[in-house]
Amino acid sequence: MFGMSKKPRVVIIGGGFAGLNAAQQLKASRYDVTVIDPSPHIEWLPNIHEIISGVKKGDELRMNRSILVRRLGHSFVMQRAHGLTSQFVELDNGQRIAFDVCIVATGSVNNTFGVAGADQHALPMKSVEQCQVIARRLHRASLSHRTCRVTVVGGGIEGVEAFGEILRAYRHRPQFEFTVVDSADRLLSHCPGNLDGAIRGHTDRLRVEYGLGKEVEEVDAEGICFTDGSALESDITLWSGGAAPNPFLAQAHLTDAPGQWADVNGTFQSRQRENVFIIGDAAQPQGMALSKQAFHAIDMGKAAAQNVERLLAGKALRDFTPSSKPQVVTFGDLDTFMVFRDFALSSGVLGAAKEAIYTLGLWQLAPPKNGKDLLHSLDLLQKSVRRVYLPTVNPLALLDKLPKSKVLS
Ligand SMILES: Cc1cc2nc3c(=O)[nH]c(=O)nc-3n(C[C@H](O)[C@H](O)[C@H](O)COP(=O)(O)OP(=O)(O)OC[C@H]3O[C@@H](n4cnc5c(N)ncnc54)[C@H](O)[C@@H]3O)c2cc1C
Repeated sequence: MFGMSKKPRVVIIGGGFAGLNAAQQLKASRYDVTVIDPSPHIEWLPNIHEIISGVKKGDELRMNRSILVRRLGHSFVMQRAHGLTSQFVELDNGQRIAFDVCIVATGSVNNTFGVAGADQHALPMKSVEQCQVIARRLHRASLSHRTCRVTVVGGGIEGVEAFGEILRAYRHRPQFEFTVVDSADRLLSHCPGNLDGAIRGHTDRLRVEYGLGKEVEEVDAEGICFTDGSALESDITLWSGGAAPNPFLAQAHLTDAPGQWADVNGTFQSRQRENVFIIGDAAQPQGMALSKQAFHAIDMGKAAAQNVERLLAGKALRDFTPSSKPQVVTFGDLDTFMVFRDFALSSGVLGAAKEAIYTLGLWQLAPPKNGKDLLHSLDLLQKSVRRVYLPTVNPLALLDKLPKSKVLS
């Protein structure tokens, strides 16, 4: 089937964490690789919440996808894919791109769970641009003396990180009142350790309320209605409810019905077509309960690309073994947690670890080409650690206020 004399054609749909890592693994000398993505930039999503407080700017979290792909010797097509057969991808502009093997890495989309009014009245925070919109709304409200009620819907990792950034920038402004809402009865309910208690401890004396164990029924311009009949007035509502499957999966017939993640086996091959691999957030590998995380997407990208090489070489494919890595969760300048499988650590100094992950992640995507490049990145890391984290430890008088490191189990 793959005994062609020309280089085998590999098309990667979606140039995010998973797709670009797959592209990095496939060498241009051996494969004719095309990456398709409608957006010109790859965004470093794990840090986009920092745009909300202004400690990071959009440009620091975006890289030009075309440059990254071309540096690898591959082609980049800036289009959205809307259909897929076992031989070609159909693009929004009507073009068809033929392939021998295709890797689908289209990620996830914002999940509003069909809540009425959520798409119109709540602000999503899944991209640099969306976080810039939130930052502008908050900044504008800070210029007025009118009371501004800010609500974060979603007390998972993304919601808590965004809430931390809001508090970093606005907790001392008297016109702001804050509420976090979640259907779970505690914050970060999927994380080990009593992180809920740790976070609430930091907000005891602030104008912060928690609406936990409550299901949102509707969002409108005035606020939120809950299924128990209660309501909450809200001027700025952020939505951080989680991830839903990208509609492309159903359009491409990679799922049985719309709204499903794509089932794959341990080698990432789709159940429907042996020359289509699905990775990253989009995939639901059989028998593995993987969280939708960048580090899994990166590992899947590499593993799937190796299987693509094996398939093209007629060799047996290998099953993926997920790694387990600790995750750093920041709570603005108030605390930082490192979450392991069954316990968590809390320490203000861990914030520098998140900065290091951010810089190393950028290096991994765009490796420094020379000494000058490397120095530039190190300089950026140093500046960024200073700007984001040193305000909490400097001047020395503030040192006592730094939360003490502790194990939360
Ligand atoms: C706010 C936020 C904070 C996060 N924080 C963390 C964290 O701290 N740690 C962590 O590990 N993970 C974190 N994550 C999760 C992590 O970002 C995702 O798990 C990861 O991005 C998944 O990688 P992916 O390649 O599957 O998808 P993505 O990185 O989302 O890439 C998907 C790509 O597919 C493209 N695409 C979509 N549809 C099409 C189409 N039809 N045709 C062509 N291209 C298409 C998109 O434009 C996008 O570039 C966070 C996510 C968010 C949103």
